[in-house]
Amino acid sequence: MIGITSYGAYIPRLRLDRSAIYRSMGWFAPALIAVAQGERSMCNWDEDSVTMAVAASRDCLSGKDKNTIDGVYMASTTMPFADRQNSGIVSTALNLSEDIITSDFTASQKIGSTALITALESIKSQDRHNILVSAADKRETKGAYFYEMWFGDGAASLLVGDTDVIAEYKGSYSVSCDFVDHYRGSDNEYDYVWEERWQRDEGYAKIIPKAVNGLMKKIGITMDDVDKLAYPCYFKRDHGTIAKKLGATPEKVVDNMHEVCGETGAAHCILMFVAALEQAKPGDGILMAGFGQGCNALYFKVTENIKKLAPRQGFKGSLENKLTTDNYLRYLKFRGLIKTEMGIRAEAPTQTAMTTLWRNRKMILGFVGGKCTSCGTAQFPKTGVCVNPECGAVKSQTDYEFADIPSKIKTFTSDLLAVSVDPPHKYGMVQFEGGGRMMADFTDCITEDLKVGLPMNMTFRIHGQDKNRGFVNYFWKAVPVPGAAEQMDKINFHNKVAIITGAGGGLGRVYALELARAGAKVVINDLGGAPDGSGKGSASPAQTVVDEIIKSGGKAVANYDNVATPEGGENIVKTAIDAFGRVDILINNAGILRDKSFIKQDGKTWNPVLDVHLNGAFNVTRPAFKAMKVQGFGRIVMTTSAAGLYGNFGQTNYSTAKLGIVGLMNTLKIEGAKYNIKINTIAPIAASRLTREVMPPEIFEKSKPEFVSPMVLYLCSEDCNETGQIFNAGLGFFNRAAVLTGHGLQIGNPENPPTPEMIHENFDKINDMTNAKEMTDATSAVFALIDPPSDWEESAEEDADGGDMYPAGLFKRMPDVFKKEAAAGVDVVFQFSIKGPKGGDWIVAVKDKECDIKPGEAQNPNCTLTMSDDNFVKLFTGVMTSMQAFSSGKLSLDGDIMKSQLIEKIFDLNL
Ligand code: NAD
Repeated sequence: MIGITSYGAYIPRLRLDRSAIYRSMGWFAPALIAVAQGERSMCNWDEDSVTMAVAASRDCLSGKDKNTIDGVYMASTTMPFADRQNSGIVSTALNLSEDIITSDFTASQKIGSTALITALESIKSQDRHNILVSAADKRETKGAYFYEMWFGDGAASLLVGDTDVIAEYKGSYSVSCDFVDHYRGSDNEYDYVWEERWQRDEGYAKIIPKAVNGLMKKIGITMDDVDKLAYPCYFKRDHGTIAKKLGATPEKVVDNMHEVCGETGAAHCILMFVAALEQAKPGDGILMAGFGQGCNALYFKVTENIKKLAPRQGFKGSLENKLTTDNYLRYLKFRGLIKTEMGIRAEAPTQTAMTTLWRNRKMILGFVGGKCTSCGTAQFPKTGVCVNPECGAVKSQTDYEFADIPSKIKTFTSDLLAVSVDPPHKYGMVQFEGGGRMMADFTDCITEDLKVGLPMNMTFRIHGQDKNRGFVNYFWKAVPVPGAAEQMDKINFHNKVAIITGAGGGLGRVYALELARAGAKVVINDLGGAPDGSGKGSASPAQTVVDEIIKSGGKAVANYDNVATPEGGENIVKTAIDAFGRVDILINNAGILRDKSFIKQDGKTWNPVLDVHLNGAFNVTRPAFKAMKVQGFGRIVMTTSAAGLYGNFGQTNYSTAKLGIVGLMNTLKIEGAKYNIKINTIAPIAASRLTREVMPPEIFEKSKPEFVSPMVLYLCSEDCNETGQIFNAGLGFFNRAAVLTGHGLQIGNPENPPTPEMIHENFDKINDMTNAKEMTDATSAVFALIDPPSDWEESAEEDADGGDMYPAGLFKRMPDVFKKEAAAGVDVVFQFSIKGPKGGDWIVAVKDKECDIKPGEAQNPNCTLTMSDDNFVKLFTGVMTSMQAFSSGKLSLDGDIMKSQLIEKIFDLNL
């Protein structure tokens, strides 16, 4: 089968309110009022057909393997280069293999559909297997003109291939004739357009039906086989008339997008096709046609694979991400339709050295940096020596693509003095997740949007133009993640990928909906079985939740694997990585019940319950933990139950599994600490099919899963620093549950071992839980036995003040690890400002081999170190180096920051 395997779209964020054109120019061209409704899309000053084609193609390649692409066709009538392959720029920007074919298609509005047919025919001949077709146009018109109103800017891309086809290609029909409704001579800047009535009556109304009817006859279909009909025509009334002529009812006709973005030239038929695909269901027939000096008509049949497509922005998402302006002069300036003085600074040399561009093409166009094979440090640009001062390996870096890596603003400025077409010039440092940072220009934003920590996406844009030599320079810029600025003060999950097992209903469904709403891309796993796990699974619960999320603008994919098998676990994690490239959050939630009193328990009730809950948690967590370890970030939430924590009649199987999960967490919290993997456990109470029978009806009504999910979302967030803890949650009530250890009593000695009688005699004291304590790990618990604290209360206080996990305790111990000799001649005062519940202010003053450490704030410290209590403990216990802390933003420095490097020299930081 051959056909479409993926799609993508891009509409520039800026939209121009059409009435603004009329308001500015109505005095000159009053007839504009007739078409001054809705809005048209408009390129930012740094966008053209190539940048839009790259954006649409990146959207199209979501979840696809770029290495399998063996051709790129770009279609446009507004190519930035007349002789330099524009499709070649697109291909390099996408960092595709160089061993592929690239080709430009131009000189007609139907050219997008011609490129598509050419690609499909090439796949049919089995010459190639995956061709990316991208159509884009930024059509120029003179000002105050009907066509300025009608046109819009945009791009759409299709991946054409022979595997995982989402819309099967059934055939095409072409009409080619030299019908000149408009043309642009080689030496002309703008189109010359003939009379509209003639265009409509002789052009659109006759040529499109001829091609569509020709196709239907050729492949033996009728309009009954067409569920969606997509063809361009910017004359709104005539768009409808053509459908009537073809016998298509209005609901089959794809909107011509006049009100929302305008006609996007060569891209428009592909864009309308993408809009049709976005709404299509398996079995739908889509007929699309491109018009211009004839017409190409193509017919496709949508397959089941469309449901498996990875989430993407698509046409709908792109349309929604908009910033409408009524500043017509801004539009004119961005398109070079008015001349303004740019100042002397703008006269800097702009020539591009082709030698340098060729040598650095991967870096400049493909945004490829390096990753050190010795220490794993990522950096941009790639250099001969690793940037990590503790590594410094030579020629150790492999290519590392930055374009799709989540990033955040580290610093920024909004500069009114710098030359900019869209002042103020906004730029700053962006920090990539997993390492690497760069100074980047920011685009498609206003200063008020920017904040330190704001999640950013990278976008391929025009960097500058050498107008004298007709050359366009491209590079990558940063643009705020849509909606991220508003979400910043809220707990959000932008750029986070979450897996929720058993998310087809009950609690898991609500966790998934809430995470998706807060920006996470989610994998909805559910086997779809009965409450006791019996019966053949069904895909529909997971798919329904995915549909629900996508409908409300979120990103989700379904997975139907069984958590109870290791392969199932591996595949669930693979689904996240294939669709979204990573996994940040895992909620082990899948569950079944097979209640029976203990004597009646047998293999049929015992094993499946342990398999789903306990082994299921192991099967999914193991591969997820592996991915999180590499990323240096992870949040895992396990699900226990009151039955496991406290016991419940008839649930020996379930309570065993549920407390086993707590054991898994207890050790994982230790193994994950070094990699910023926090793992906690929720004990929910909520109305679901599992509790319908056991909960009194009045409680069932009140216990919505929404009263549990806020705690789960918090535990999944970056803001959560807790690890290894259990929380009860239900009906809006939350508390912590913990295993506590009593004070105890030392009985007997080597000569006189304890006896049962002595136990009996002292039982009240052994059993006493006054001032009971939590143990952080098995070692502390064993030490408490070997060396019982003489005074339990005193030791509890000491922990809060001076234990190893507390900054106060570490500051107390710092003089012990002071390296006197290394401090010879040193004169420095450090101010530590430690944030968080265990935090405070401490002064560390070092003067020529002497050190003085005390709580408080120094008058004139040389350097102030600000960090969280947690990160301080990590830094001073050797888990993290100061360089890692600084470069990942966990340590901020004020004053003479070079002095901070002394700390590791004069203290042995392995407290
Ligand atoms: P639910 O039955 O509505 O949800 C559980 C989901 O897990 C179901 O959609 C089911 O199809 C899925 N599932 C079962 N076996 C699976 C497998 N092998 N692979 C993949 N998916 C599978 O129940 P719920 O009440 O929402 O329970 C969610 C979790 O919370 C469970 O772990 C449950 O034990 C726990 N829990 C719930 C309550 C409560 O009051 N609802 C109380 C304590 C613990």
